[in-house]
Amino acid sequence: MEFVHAAKLVQTVNNDYSWFDTSYNMNIYRGCNQGCIYCDSRSSCYQIKSFDTIKAKIDAPIKVEKELSNKRKKGIIGLGSMSDPYNQYESELEYTRKSLKSMNKYGFGVFVITKSNLVLRDIDIFKKISEHSVCNIALTITTADDLLQSRIERNSSSTKERFGAIKELNKNEIFAGILMMPLLPFINDSLDNISKIVELAHENNAKYIFPSFGVTLRDNQRDYFFNKIGDKLKAQYITTFGDKYMCVSPNHKELRKHFEKLCDKYGILYKMSDIIEESRKYIKNMQLSLFSG
Ligand code: SF4
Repeated sequence: MEFVHAAKLVQTVNNDYSWFDTSYNMNIYRGCNQGCIYCDSRSSCYQIKSFDTIKAKIDAPIKVEKELSNKRKKGIIGLGSMSDPYNQYESELEYTRKSLKSMNKYGFGVFVITKSNLVLRDIDIFKKISEHSVCNIALTITTADDLLQSRIERNSSSTKERFGAIKELNKNEIFAGILMMPLLPFINDSLDNISKIVELAHENNAKYIFPSFGVTLRDNQRDYFFNKIGDKLKAQYITTFGDKYMCVSPNHKELRKHFEKLCDKYGILYKMSDIIEESRKYIKNMQLSLFSG
C-alpha cells in the first residue's frame, strides 16, 4: 500500500441523480486489490498506475470532514465506484469509517458499493445515517458459484459471505441489495446463474437486484481481461464483439425476461426508480413523520 496526496475528495456528479439518487461521489482510495478480472477502473482513461496497489489518500478523513462542513447542498454520496471502500487496509486505517462518521455528522446520505463483508463493521454508523437520510448498501454479486467467484474476483469476500452481509444488514433495518454486474458473456451469463442469484437474494432478504447483462471493455482493461480468461474465450469475445465497448450478452433478452419474472415472483425490486423510491422509505425520521401526520 502507498499514501498519495489528493486535492479534492467529494465530487459533484452530473447524472440527474439517476444512479441510485447520488449527487456526490467519493473515492477515499485509489486503485483496488480485490482482483476483479473485468474491472473498468483499470482502463487507461483513468490513468491509475499500478492499479492493484492500494493508494490511501493522505489525511482523507480530515479532508472529507472539511469538505462536507462547507457544503450547503445535502445529498447522497456514492462510495465504491472506482475502488472498493472496504479493501484489506481499511480494517486498520478506518478511512471509510471515519468519513462515514462525517457524513452522518453533516446530514448526508450514502450509497455504498462493495464486495467485502467488512462493511458489517459500520452497521452502527449506517443506523445513524438512516435516521436522517438514505443509507443504501449494495453488495456486488456476479455469480452464485464460489469457485468461479474466486477466479474472477480473487481477493474479495466469497459470494456466500456477501449474501450473509446482505442478510445481516437487512436484519439491522439497513436498506441493502445487490448489484448483479457484470454478467460476462460466455462466463456467468446463464439462466442457471441468474436463477440461483435471485433465489439466494430472496433467502437472504435482499431488497433489490440491479442488473447489467453484459460488460464494458476498453483500453488496458480489455487486455487484462483477455489475459485472464484464456485463449478460447478470448477468441470467442473477439469474434462476437471485435473491439466494441459494450459487450452485451448474446441472449440478453431471454436473460432479462427470466430475471424479471423471478424477481416479480419474490417481490425483489430491479428498476432504478423503484429502488430509489423504496430506499427513501427507510429513513427513520420520515417514517416517524408519516405516523405522526
Ligand atoms: S472491487 Fe470494484 S474497483 Fe475493485 S477491482 Fe473489483 S470492480 Fe474494480
